[in-house]
Amino acid sequence: MDYLKELNPPQLQAVQHTDGPVMIIAGAGSGKTRVLTYRIAHLIYAKGIDPFNILSLTFTNKAAAEMKHRIEMLVGLEARNTWMGTFHSVFAKILRVEAGKIGYPSNFTIYDSDDSKSLIRTLVKEMRIDDKVYKPSVVLSRISGAKNRLISWQAYQDDPYVKADDEAAMKPHMGAIYEKYQKRLFKSGAMDFDDLLFNTNVLFRDHLDVLNKYQQRFKYVMVDEFQDTNISQYLITKKLAAVHQNICVVGDDAQSIYAFRGADIQNILNFEKDYPDLFVVKLEQNYRSTKTIVEAANSIIDKNKAQLKKLVWTSNPEGELIELIKATSDGEEGRIVANTIFEEKNNKKLNNSDFAILYRTNSQSRSMEEALRKMNLTYKIVGGLSFYQRKEIKDLMAYMRFTVNPVDEEAFKRVINYPKRGIGDTSVEKILVAAYDHDIPLWEVVKNAHSFLPGRAGSSVDDFATMIKAFQIEVERKDAFEVASSIAKQSGLLRELYEDKTIEGLNRYENVQELLNAIKEYVDNPENEDKSLGSFLQEIALLTDNDQDKDKTDAITLMTIHSSKGLEFRQVFVVGMEEDLFPSQMMMQSREDLEEERRLFYVATTRAMDKLYLTYALSRYRFGRLLNCEPSRFLEEVDQNMIKVNKRMSSKDMPGALRKEGLPGAGGFVGIKRQPESRQPSQLKIHTPSPDFKPSNTNNLKAAQLVEHPKFGFGKVQKIETEGLNKKATIQFEHFGEKTLLLSFAKLRII
Ligand code: ATP
Ligand code: MG
Repeated sequence: MDYLKELNPPQLQAVQHTDGPVMIIAGAGSGKTRVLTYRIAHLIYAKGIDPFNILSLTFTNKAAAEMKHRIEMLVGLEARNTWMGTFHSVFAKILRVEAGKIGYPSNFTIYDSDDSKSLIRTLVKEMRIDDKVYKPSVVLSRISGAKNRLISWQAYQDDPYVKADDEAAMKPHMGAIYEKYQKRLFKSGAMDFDDLLFNTNVLFRDHLDVLNKYQQRFKYVMVDEFQDTNISQYLITKKLAAVHQNICVVGDDAQSIYAFRGADIQNILNFEKDYPDLFVVKLEQNYRSTKTIVEAANSIIDKNKAQLKKLVWTSNPEGELIELIKATSDGEEGRIVANTIFEEKNNKKLNNSDFAILYRTNSQSRSMEEALRKMNLTYKIVGGLSFYQRKEIKDLMAYMRFTVNPVDEEAFKRVINYPKRGIGDTSVEKILVAAYDHDIPLWEVVKNAHSFLPGRAGSSVDDFATMIKAFQIEVERKDAFEVASSIAKQSGLLRELYEDKTIEGLNRYENVQELLNAIKEYVDNPENEDKSLGSFLQEIALLTDNDQDKDKTDAITLMTIHSSKGLEFRQVFVVGMEEDLFPSQMMMQSREDLEEERRLFYVATTRAMDKLYLTYALSRYRFGRLLNCEPSRFLEEVDQNMIKVNKRMSSKDMPGALRKEGLPGAGGFVGIKRQPESRQPSQLKIHTPSPDFKPSNTNNLKAAQLVEHPKFGFGKVQKIETEGLNKKATIQFEHFGEKTLLLSFAKLRII
């Protein structure tokens, strides 16, 4: 068939070598994802494999949808029946079927990180330990780290190394929190994201009949972006493929950017050990980018010590030089980018969707958005605060979750007194205590609340339980849309929002309507066989931020570099190329961290097909103040022959304004002095006080005020406490973390 002609010889080999273990390790843009796609098509078309027997694991749901679409074009509708999705979505589906085996209800809830943090906050409070030491985000990330390494709470508590590590981090109660956290999740019939993988491992370890069923089902297993799998994911894949051994993984060690979430490059090295008869394919030809971009990217990744050496070349044209753009401020950076897009669109007849603006952190999108809006350029933000993270949406979802799974504690806490029905915090606490102290399911306690809650609170909880029971009856008989509409109305939530006539209130009301629209769409879609509320909830819980860009309008894409993995655009702007921002100060504690930041830079540059721009600003608003910035060290690492310095201007600039600072000449990046790479930024960072630095009178200092400290730099006051005669301020410094200072000594300037 013709499709095989669309592959080069090593790609063809990888596609045709369908049986036995295969690993494809190759550089960016060399067709790894394309090989996987064609391989699946080949299995179905040429080998007659039933699509139900093929499992492929991708990095985002969006990538899965694109692959499915592509395979459909090659072999027809049959393609829909392959198992394809992210690790989380595929194994959540399997867990839903098998949940009973590990003691979970099949309609278990999936907690997002807000739910998890709220639970941790409750536990820390119950344990009466210091909530400043045991911050929810810190605790959650330690628990997550353990789960990704498959360390159960029992193993955690027994491991002397883990214990020593917790003690060194001054968190001796971590083991106890982890235990309580897991028990509460279990009680609530809930799993967090990491549990989806952890529990799949438990399921396969303890129930060989279940494992065997899926081993027989998945005759062919494929994994894209293999470099970013963690141990937990790797073990699942390995177990599933153990019978047929038809496993094909593709990845690029140079693009491993999730070490901070437990991804382990060792998986690539272990793979060779685990499968001695492994067939290894190398792809070296890049089809995505111009010669200039490929060579620049090679020159970047070359600086990393830890990498498998591989060659990447292209027969694509030379293309244009990379443009290095300097702006005086972040505002101007945004205006220049917007202006450039506008010009390039007109000159080269490009669409908005041909452009992407990539940044290191989400907050950088603001100045870009402002400028794009002014130029009337359509854009979409991928990631960031998504629709499903908004409060009103979470509230309605919580009602639905509690209806389907009435032991879900976090959902319960959200809705029991919202809209207000006279049930105070003390009553809520009493309910929770009754459930946990006497080990009674939460729902049983709620239904019988009048027996121990006197007066209005008791009868209100009764009414609440009656209402939920009515919803549950509807769930049995109606589809997700009908139930959701009824819940929105009967709960009083829609009325509450409708009565709020402020602009925000109106927005919230519209958002809830929008959610109902989405549910309607879900119910009407013939591809969704199960139209129940439970099935809809599961689908939503698995949506990653990357999947929020459903609208197909022609828009410029704004996203973090992390979310851009695997994608390609004609023109790419990597903005905010400044020290401390990229490489990120927050992430850099060691050489390994710096190498991970550099891989991230490699990922960013290799998204571009035709043209790449690197931009930086000399000053940027952070913490509500204009800070001076230095250009990123990464700019010096790019082969300077591939770069030209451009004097692009924003429409607002006076001619020559940019030149005033004296731009470095093309090819030579001179005039930037910086400490050597091995420095430990968080320790050596020296703050130069503002020229007008004078301590302020801090008698009336309040939380949320911004201050400057001569040594620690800028920070935000978290709280003020009085201890005897001394007043203390806890301040979150931008580069030095949280510090508690005595106000009578600290020389602070209020900004
Ligand atoms: P990344 O590392 O960024 O995920 P990748 O190795 O997965 O990249 P693909 O996205 O599969 O690379 O391919 C990059 C581009 O090159 C795509 O546009 C793809 O269609 C194209 N391409 C790959 N192989 C060929 C080929 N043999 N002929 C023509 N185009 C190709
Ligand atoms: Mg890819």
